[in-house]
Amino acid sequence: MRLCRFDGDRLGVVEGDEVLDVSAALDALPVVRYPLPAHDLLVEALPRLRPRIESLCPTAPRRPLAAVRLEPPVANPGKIIGAPINYHAHATESAADSGIAHGRQITSIGEWGLFLKARSALIGPGEPIRLRFPQRRNDHEVELGVVIGRTARHVTRDEALDHVAGYLVALDITLRGPEFVCFRKSIDTYAVTGPWLVTADEIPDPGRLDLWLAVNGERRQRSNTRHLIYDVPRLIEFASSFYTLQPGDILMTGTPEGVGPLQPGDRIEAGVQGVGVLAVRVAGDDDAPTAAPA
Ligand code: MN
Repeated sequence: MRLCRFDGDRLGVVEGDEVLDVSAALDALPVVRYPLPAHDLLVEALPRLRPRIESLCPTAPRRPLAAVRLEPPVANPGKIIGAPINYHAHATESAADSGIAHGRQITSIGEWGLFLKARSALIGPGEPIRLRFPQRRNDHEVELGVVIGRTARHVTRDEALDHVAGYLVALDITLRGPEFVCFRKSIDTYAVTGPWLVTADEIPDPGRLDLWLAVNGERRQRSNTRHLIYDVPRLIEFASSFYTLQPGDILMTGTPEGVGPLQPGDRIEAGVQGVGVLAVRVAGDDDAPTAAPA
């Protein structure tokens, strides 16, 4: 099942080039009061909500997919976790390009560990990426995104995939520079997810998926998740050994080679096999000063 959020927090099932509006299923979610839970209620409820969603589909209002504004498939991820240097060819290009490495020694994901992107950086395809400092280098990174479905703490790689709700296309937009990685990668709009969540039953093996990215129609990145250094089960094992993973948490699994700079006006298309194609615009940030304050 392909689940999307669209047009002001409506819930949709994507079938072909149409969106079936199943927002009525959201009525079954628990009513919450302050302080709000730190995980995503819809993703948590998905196993029990799914029959209700399916029963709504035959009579659901339909909209053309091209006519809706797609929002992030997960509204409230408690954490967005990133994986640095998780494809060998990207590690090699990073070590060879001072514009990526900025003097850091490229070692290994095992030594570097994972990083976090702020929840406030999250957008869907219906909103442009706004380059905060367009005169600096801002790179695209296409990645397979994993959405956690069940609480995971110290899970082994053998049981890891049982904790996955589904998958999406993720863009880990990155300001290059000397600052800490979380600082540079947490800029507003720098965590793009979409176009929808594909439930895990449709992706029996996340370790054999083509992924690619094009800018203005020009192919920049192309690889397959079989080239991941830490594959999805191992990433979940690694992440859950440091953090409790909660329903709705998003794990961006790392980018393959071919990262490169973006400019205002660019149009990105990024795809993951079996998931879909995310299309998003790049804009400048009209409100921003031209440089960070010293
Ligand atoms: Mn990345």
